[in-house]
Amino acid sequence: MNLNTLSDLYVHELKDLYSAEKQLLKALPKMAKAATNADLKAGFQQHLEETKEHAARLEKVLAGREASTRGPKCKAMEGLIAEGSDLMEEEGDPEVLDAGLIVAAQKVEHYEIAGYGSVCTFAKLLGDKAGLELLKLTINEEESTDKKLTKLATSVINLEASK
Ligand code: FE
Ligand code: FE
Repeated sequence: MNLNTLSDLYVHELKDLYSAEKQLLKALPKMAKAATNADLKAGFQQHLEETKEHAARLEKVLAGREASTRGPKCKAMEGLIAEGSDLMEEEGDPEVLDAGLIVAAQKVEHYEIAGYGSVCTFAKLLGDKAGLELLKLTINEEESTDKKLTKLATSVINLEASK
């Protein structure tokens, strides 16, 4: 793919995010299964439903640029998920392992927020109003997921038990 214009880069980054979301769709059910804390489990399940929408919105934004969803695999997400998988294979205290899952999930959310922030900027610069509206819905959900995870981090760990 040639990157000659901002529009080319916009499409390139949308495809990267699409690959990231598709990989997450496979990882989130495993994370929900691995979580012990009921709120964390439910949080992963809720974000799985949101993630389906994120992928669907990217399909729409890409279609608006007359581009397919096909593209290279997002290597960053592959790496983040691989780290999360390694963690899920560890044995240990369930609360500590839950805290580890939150770390993995927040790294994922921050990666997504960085990517969506950039494509929102490009959508604005390129005048893609329809795309921007869709991408803003997604970035808001990523940000609220990140905040919920921060709150959960303080509640999943029973401080008395973890001393
Ligand atoms: Fe997402
Ligand atoms: Fe997300």
